[in-house]
Amino acid sequence: MKALQYRTVGSAPEVVTVPDPELGPGQVLLKVTAAGVCHSDIAVMGWPAESFPYALPLTLGHEGVGTVAALGAGVDTVEEGDSVAVYGPWGCGTCANCAQGKENYCLRADELGIRPPGLGAPGSMAEYMIIDDPRHLVPIDGLDPVATVPLTDAGLTPYHAIKRSLPKLVPGSTAVVIGTGGLGHVAIQLLRAMTAARVVALDVSEDKLALARTVGAHEAILSDAAAAGKVRELTGGRGAEAVFDFVGIQPTVDTAGAIAAIEGDVTLVGIGGGVLPVGFGRQNFEVSVTAPYWGSRGELIEVLDLARSGAVSVHTETYSLDEAPEAYARLHDGRINGRAVILPNG
Ligand SMILES: [Zn+2]
Ligand SMILES: [Zn+2]
Repeated sequence: MKALQYRTVGSAPEVVTVPDPELGPGQVLLKVTAAGVCHSDIAVMGWPAESFPYALPLTLGHEGVGTVAALGAGVDTVEEGDSVAVYGPWGCGTCANCAQGKENYCLRADELGIRPPGLGAPGSMAEYMIIDDPRHLVPIDGLDPVATVPLTDAGLTPYHAIKRSLPKLVPGSTAVVIGTGGLGHVAIQLLRAMTAARVVALDVSEDKLALARTVGAHEAILSDAAAAGKVRELTGGRGAEAVFDFVGIQPTVDTAGAIAAIEGDVTLVGIGGGVLPVGFGRQNFEVSVTAPYWGSRGELIEVLDLARSGAVSVHTETYSLDEAPEAYARLHDGRINGRAVILPNG
């Protein structure tokens, strides 16, 4: 079968022919309908050889939707032909965190060598993929596969981040979204659907700001050295009760810290490597800073339920598997509006 693989550190991903995957007991074979292109893959492909954590070649794709094509021995909770979304942050399934559905925070994944598809295990940018256990599959129940696939990361990750701050996002509050690309443009919609907060979006290009306004941002501001001052002005000097940074480079992290209100939440989602110092006087009083990772299985079900209610619509551009390297190149250059989706069997 064909797959998009990252094969050599520092090189662009390539479309190659690989052996068809072999289905083991307890596993599910998925015929991939749609696979999302995530900016974090570009960060991963920028890591140096000496600290690269995964075996190469690596089939990319940590967002996947597909059709159940075959069942391994003993699998009886899904059926051939079911249309399903893949919960990506696989865990052991039995530790205290996994028992709560928080497989993204599995206590034993490292020890057991369990990796998410596309981030260690073979991912969704292939005609077929193996799912380790049917519990990782959520029926999409009538949702469109292309519109749904980004929700497995670009929806789930901001949903999880926003949930933490819900008690602070009361009427009259302000939420700031920094970076309105794949995750950020979904975050804006989630904030509008889940809270009464005023939503302010920051990005570096007018195209992205236009998308931010289209999907519901009340204000959209160019992300530059003056942005923090503008947010302070918009909030009467108070700042934002919650700031979500989907970029995470030093300039955006500095902005996030500078605009957080007293007792505000700063959530660093983007993996740009920026650092926010915490200590008396370094941030506003009682600002809480965190860097979460993905979300729980239960939260993915909630995100898909929200999508079914019509509250979230992801802006997508579709590409064939042969065009996948081009999609990554465009994302790298900031030329994707919303989310690029690969159709491996399209
Ligand atoms: Zn991602
Ligand atoms: Zn676990």
